[in-house]
Amino acid sequence: MHVVIVGTGPSGLILALLLSRANIRVTLLDGASTLDDRPRAAHYAPSAIRVLRDAGVLDDVRSKGFIPGAMMWRKIDGSPIAGLKDTPESRGEDGLTVLPLNMLGKVLLSHAEREGNISVKWEHKVVDVGQDEGGAWAVVEMRDGSEVRVTGDYLVGCDGANSRVRKALFGDVFEGKTWDAQIVATNVYYPLHDFGFTDINNIIHHEDYYMAAIISKDGMWRVSYGEDPKLSYEEVLANQPAKYERMLPGNPKPGDYKLTNVGPYRIHQRCAESFRVGKITLAADAAHLVNPFGGMGLTGGIVDVGGLAECLIGIEKGVADEDILDKYSEKRMEKWREYINPISSDNFLRVSATDPEDPFTTDEFLKFCREMEEDGTGKMKRDFDASVYDICHDFTQYYRDAPVSKTPATAVMNGTTAVNGVEGHASNGIKV
Ligand SMILES: Cc1cc2nc3c(=O)[nH]c(=O)nc-3n(C[C@H](O)[C@H](O)[C@H](O)COP(=O)(O)OP(=O)(O)OC[C@H]3O[C@@H](n4cnc5c(N)ncnc54)[C@H](O)[C@@H]3O)c2cc1C
Repeated sequence: MHVVIVGTGPSGLILALLLSRANIRVTLLDGASTLDDRPRAAHYAPSAIRVLRDAGVLDDVRSKGFIPGAMMWRKIDGSPIAGLKDTPESRGEDGLTVLPLNMLGKVLLSHAEREGNISVKWEHKVVDVGQDEGGAWAVVEMRDGSEVRVTGDYLVGCDGANSRVRKALFGDVFEGKTWDAQIVATNVYYPLHDFGFTDINNIIHHEDYYMAAIISKDGMWRVSYGEDPKLSYEEVLANQPAKYERMLPGNPKPGDYKLTNVGPYRIHQRCAESFRVGKITLAADAAHLVNPFGGMGLTGGIVDVGGLAECLIGIEKGVADEDILDKYSEKRMEKWREYINPISSDNFLRVSATDPEDPFTTDEFLKFCREMEEDGTGKMKRDFDASVYDICHDFTQYYRDAPVSKTPATAVMNGTTAVNGVEGHASNGIKV
């Protein structure tokens, strides 16, 4: 089998590694000349960690990144409301892991380049896709303006929020909504631990809500805050020092911190109308978008490609029919609708619309966190930790002669709420 993947972002690379390990040949096509190194995602939840392990990259990811400690919700004065008081040890082997996306991309690409089955083609901008009974192809615009066709048995669109593959299948239809908000993602060196902040912090405030999490071993923090959606990029930049001074503990002025990145994003909740049309499938941002609060974005995308790999490997081995790709579309869309979309929406509303003076009557999850802290039996926390796998779906159960029941390690283990409040998936500047 030969699979053409459009997009050498994290989802495309992980899918390529999973397929290559099953001896499936992969061609990755990307319109850019190298990896997108803008700092975007940083937190990957347990459901995604399993897929990274299957792709053979987890040890490298963990050696460059780290497993964070506690996640708290706080008032604007920094005082704690409720939280998940995990330690790196208590998070276990699938523990939420932090590594900025630009660094994750390098790890993934270095692994892909060592695989004889994977061919990475930069400056291959896909302008259209097509298919017939024999296979699926990408129409690629080369640097000199000429067009070539790259054909495989299957084609996967992992080409991000503005996916050309999705547009070729469904035009501009990408159902959902755009929030009346703008999130500004900044990377900054400022010692927030010194002010009592834990590794991940969500500050609840109607105007100055933000998320602050340490994202590198050398002390860089991601601070993502809400901003007036009417502000232009230049106005966002101009307003940033005043925002920081007003909202961060210690009321820092520009000389007090080292700012390394400012990236404004509009945020969305959107899902394609299907993740499969014949031999062409969609995954990750090409298929769905959520707002950045809650770490459900790329995490959800990584879980997509884990499932899609199971489907394609099943077809390759002759233990599944092509119809398994309908299951892929049906189940991944179901997980988005039932878990990823509502939970990520709640995550955003928790920081931006909850009353910080009365959080427990207005927010069920914060109430739950407080009860979990008070539960001496530890049962609530155990149940909560198990629920983090709710976004997964085991597609090997549709293989012919699949065992009727599965061990918990490989069965329908799914991932949701554990990452509530961690910054996650943003919209990557989608133009809709
Ligand atoms: C500020 C911010 C913070 C975030 N934090 C988190 C987080 O903590 N956790 C989390 O899980 N998620 C997070 N996300 C979301 C995460 O970054 C995205 O979900 C993820 O990058 C999507 O990966 P992808 O592979 O689907 O697409 P992308 O990363 O967008 O990659 C798409 C690739 O396709 C290529 N491409 C595009 N069009 C074409 C074409 N026509 N032809 C060929 N190639 C093409 C691009 O060059 C690119 O290489 C965050 C996002 C932002 C913006």
